[in-house]
Amino acid sequence: MICGFCGHEFDENEGKKGCGGCGGGCHSVHCPRCNYKNPVEPKYMEKLKKLLNRKEKSATEQTGKSDKE
Ligand SMILES: [Zn+2]
Repeated sequence: MICGFCGHEFDENEGKKGCGGCGGGCHSVHCPRCNYKNPVEPKYMEKLKKLLNRKEKSATEQTGKSDKE
């Protein structure tokens, strides 16, 4: 997942789960870099984001290239 605060990409298992003060009932992952509390994203959200990123990238790369009909 990607930290919503510093943008650091890390594995969910790398981060600290839970806020530490609620007995593990809170579903969040702390960023290993800045300790920001990120809400856990469902897997499909991550895929969607990556898909969108790829789309944006390829769109800027092939500007005006593929003009097929
Ligand atoms: Zn962070």
